[in-house]
Amino acid sequence: MNVISAELVEQKLGTYLHDTFRHLHTNPELSGREFETQAFLKSELDRLGIPYKEMAWTGLCAELKGARPGAAILLRADIDALPIEEQTGLAYASNREGAMHACGHDAHMTIVLGTAAMLLERQNEWSGTVKLMFQPSEEKHPGGAKPMIAEGLLDDPKVDAAIGIHTNPYLAPGTFGLKDGAILANADRFYIHLIGKGGHAAAPHEGADAIAMAGQLIVSIQNLVARQVSPFDNAVVTIGEIKGGYAPNTLADRVYMAGTVRTMNDDTQAMMEKKIGVLLQGIADLWGGSFTYDYVRGYPITWNDKAMTDIVRHAAETCLGKESVVEMPHGYMSADDFAYIAQAVPSVFIEWGTGEWAEEARGTAVPWHNPAFRVNPDAFKYGVAVVTQSILNYLQGGK
Ligand SMILES: [Zn+2]
Ligand SMILES: [Zn+2]
Repeated sequence: MNVISAELVEQKLGTYLHDTFRHLHTNPELSGREFETQAFLKSELDRLGIPYKEMAWTGLCAELKGARPGAAILLRADIDALPIEEQTGLAYASNREGAMHACGHDAHMTIVLGTAAMLLERQNEWSGTVKLMFQPSEEKHPGGAKPMIAEGLLDDPKVDAAIGIHTNPYLAPGTFGLKDGAILANADRFYIHLIGKGGHAAAPHEGADAIAMAGQLIVSIQNLVARQVSPFDNAVVTIGEIKGGYAPNTLADRVYMAGTVRTMNDDTQAMMEKKIGVLLQGIADLWGGSFTYDYVRGYPITWNDKAMTDIVRHAAETCLGKESVVEMPHGYMSADDFAYIAQAVPSVFIEWGTGEWAEEARGTAVPWHNPAFRVNPDAFKYGVAVVTQSILNYLQGGK
């Protein structure tokens, strides 16, 4: 079998990849409203002659068939942008006020279209089916993956494995971050009302000060991570919103708080959910107040199957050499609804190196969801090469 080199991808698709990416980057659409994006994807699939169907409103599932029947693998791109005003100064920056591809989903679509084009070139060399998933609304819980699965994304033909790819501004183009097991976290939210009793600030003992209750909760909630989570496990709790109080001389009868809990282990998730409730009860009892507590589970852990991760390791080594594989000591505490695909079939979520701009020293990368976030265009040829090679390796029966 011929190796899919980055040079080959550049030669065949270089201009196409850059033009496609620039078009998508300039025209971002927010979660669930990706109408023009969907229309653009349809026109590209029509041009490539790949049949597709609409799913989950603005999503698409396309199907590419090899020369003979065989296994089915899914390749996923999310397609939505974020409500951020772009500040990159790029020539092809967003032309839409209040919308920006600041997570690189424009680059994910480009990779999937480019991979489809490479696979078509070699249609005689592989068997089975490649499903191309273009998923709306990743940035907005409950996300587009779940409804697509409910509409039959993984059926007929039944999907046997899946690959997801994500930009990573901390890794250089030509490198791929891989990790077996949990790569992204459980991402949950909580909403709390602390209810006290109003009164004069000079006589706190006659009321129940909801702000004092809030102060105790803010400190104690961090101690749950420090004292109840194993040093070998990890968790994050952040209170990102707090509102309460009226005046300097008045006891607050009510404080509202909202935050997030991130965990890499389902037992730790259950412990945090439960113990925040225990803490609230203790604080309410102590101060004679009460509370409401809603804990909402978000996207679950994204789990990388070892055999699938090995297929990508091997593909990257074949295409680009051993140094292209970056073994990640830990994942990220962010989340992605690719997790639902990974729960259903053996999957791998690839951290694709899209950072290291010439003018930046390493370690100063602009993170995701930042108005200055950028994807290095040099990364595309490597991404398409490794993803195409991984799919070919899988469909040709492994290594
Ligand atoms: Zn994002
Ligand atoms: Zn993203």
